[in-house]
Amino acid sequence: MIRRLISKVFGGNSGGKPIAIPLARHGIEREQIHPCALKVTRTLKENGYAAFVVGGAVRDLLIGREPKDFDIATDATPEEVRQCFRRSRIIGRRFQIVHVYCGADTIEVTTFRASQGEPEADEDRVTAEDGLILRDNVFGSQAEDAARRDFTVNALYYDPEHEEIWDSHGGVADAKKRLLRMIGDPEARYREDPVRMLRAARFAAKLDFRIDPATRAPIAKLAPLLERIPAARLFDEMIKLLLSGHAERGIHQLRAEGLHHGIFPMLDALLDDPARQTFLHVALHDTDERVRNDQSASPAFLIACLLWFDMNATWHKLQAKGEPAQAALFAAMDQVLEQQRDTLAFPRRFDGTIKEIWSLQPRFEQRSGARPYRLLTHPRFRAGYDFLLIRAKGGDAPQELADWWSRFQDAGEAERANMLQPAKTGEGKRRRRRRGPKKTTDDGASNLA
Ligand code: ATP
Ligand code: MG
Repeated sequence: MIRRLISKVFGGNSGGKPIAIPLARHGIEREQIHPCALKVTRTLKENGYAAFVVGGAVRDLLIGREPKDFDIATDATPEEVRQCFRRSRIIGRRFQIVHVYCGADTIEVTTFRASQGEPEADEDRVTAEDGLILRDNVFGSQAEDAARRDFTVNALYYDPEHEEIWDSHGGVADAKKRLLRMIGDPEARYREDPVRMLRAARFAAKLDFRIDPATRAPIAKLAPLLERIPAARLFDEMIKLLLSGHAERGIHQLRAEGLHHGIFPMLDALLDDPARQTFLHVALHDTDERVRNDQSASPAFLIACLLWFDMNATWHKLQAKGEPAQAALFAAMDQVLEQQRDTLAFPRRFDGTIKEIWSLQPRFEQRSGARPYRLLTHPRFRAGYDFLLIRAKGGDAPQELADWWSRFQDAGEAERANMLQPAKTGEGKRRRRRRGPKKTTDDGASNLA
């Protein structure tokens, strides 16, 4: 393992020499940094290492947002970092980082990495022929570390001791202009790591930044490179976008950049049909509100929203071919989930929840007898009901139906009994036929249309 340990913080040839920007020009005070992050930088410095708060935290503070987490970069190797903190652990392989535990919080500490395009090829730096970086544990200087980051606003290093930002690529000025600009040659940087294209869309949406024209230009041509990215990494990135609190802008940005083809091919159909677009708008808007209010928002729920129309259309097609409603529903759910897995593969553990949310929808239409009471006790009632509310707001289900369920949940016994609707003709017959062994889903599915 070659370690290019550089004792001096300055050095390296890839980034420009950083400019130290004083407090008066950036306004970030030490007190705005998380106490755990301050403790980690202080300890590293006391042990003779350089240490900065980096990445999203500095960027977010600079534009007046609350950072999600505080990451630290240092010239200490992962092993040296681990020795400075009793409660710490080295994790990762592609990028080794150290988790330092501080109370209930975890601070990520990364060692400065050498810039890309180094001639040395060894087990610590593995690059595919076309430039895709497969593993990257070659350590370098602070300037080199800055040069290998993606956007200028993500390459800012805050020194809490002196309350200075070290900026080698004009990130502070870009943040003020609300501009997302790739460091280096954008096309080469996307080829090294195509996920940076998704990150461009995500940050533009999340920060409400404009993408610099030169940074934006190669994306349309290079979007197919995303096919080479492992499914799990793509999925993680999409979840970051969907649960960022800016999913709606993010989804539109993805499509505007032509990045959705290999990931969410259904977006075209959703965004081109006004009725479906309204539903998607309501679903994403609702998710963004939840995230911003610190309420739970689940990936399974969002996937259920994104695939709902495909599932519904398949279901109706199968019924038109003569399949009974319930069997057609289950076949349609499997079919649509499998199809989607060919593009954006999401973990199978979400399937159960997605199917439950979908298969509860027809059951909300049944408002007579014991069925509504049974539905209330279903473990996924809440998710199914939230989904119904979105459908109603999006014009895909009667608002009256959603209101009925809102009332029925909170009503007392007498009111509930009053609210029940008379059994429809045929329902009694169906019920009689059902008096055999109990099925897991006990209600027949009717058409939603
Ligand atoms: P967020 O607030 O969404 O977490 P972030 O900027 O902290 O935003 P992370 O994905 O947490 O984003 O990454 C932390 C930092 O690591 C980034 O700011 C960037 O400097 C660097 N980075 C992450 N992913 C890449 C990448 N694919 N290519 C280059 N640099 C990257
Ligand atoms: Mg981060």
